[in-house]
Amino acid sequence: MVKITDNINKTLQQIKQAESKYHREPGSVQLLAISKRSSIVEIKTAVAAGLTAFGESYLQDAAPKIEALADLNLKWHFIGPIQSNKTKLIAENFNWVHSIDRVKIARRLSEQRPAHAPPLDICIQIKIGEEDTKSGILLADLSRFAAEISRLPRLKLRGLMTIPKQITDFSTQRLAFRKLHTAMLALNEQGFTLDTLSMGMSADFIAAIAEGATIVRLGNALFGSS
Ligand SMILES: *Cc1c(COP(=O)(O)O)cnc(C)c1O
Repeated sequence: MVKITDNINKTLQQIKQAESKYHREPGSVQLLAISKRSSIVEIKTAVAAGLTAFGESYLQDAAPKIEALADLNLKWHFIGPIQSNKTKLIAENFNWVHSIDRVKIARRLSEQRPAHAPPLDICIQIKIGEEDTKSGILLADLSRFAAEISRLPRLKLRGLMTIPKQITDFSTQRLAFRKLHTAMLALNEQGFTLDTLSMGMSADFIAAIAEGATIVRLGNALFGSS
């Protein structure tokens, strides 16, 4: 547990240094703690260290954590693939969904978002390279897809998310993230008002910050044993 606190403090420091080094505004990069492999006790340790936003990939694992931690007023982000039969609970229990790549799923989330809650914050998941994970839409389809999503009344389209292929070379890591940033700027030129780039994981978040990430999604760097 001490390890988690140390990891968080060290990572927050790294984010701050990267903001400064790459001429990003101080505080413009949010740390989203990916707690999909973490217990309730571990999440409480992260909360004690100052974190308030957590990301989960599997609804069945996330639901008991969200319930147990309900009085802490945390923000929950869904980051995994979504099946149709899970949309209702996701619409009811999460603040953000980063993994939108099907209109049908987005439509269900919009319809099932409770009336008393604010619109669900959404990122469209983009597949940057041919070799990337199967989730995500292609950049060529983004403009039309974003137009459809932005019509859904109970969703708020905030930005783009990607999970690039794992590579170790820093300047090659930056290329994929730059493409996501360019795609967001192009949408905004067309009249969209996106403000979020959800990109960068434990192995590549510095490159993502260099290219404009506003949310980095870190699991291992915070909760891992290494
Ligand atoms: C698990 C996961 C992460 C965190 O990955 P780490 O390498 O542990 O930092 C980030 N984003 C998504 C979509 C994930 O599934």
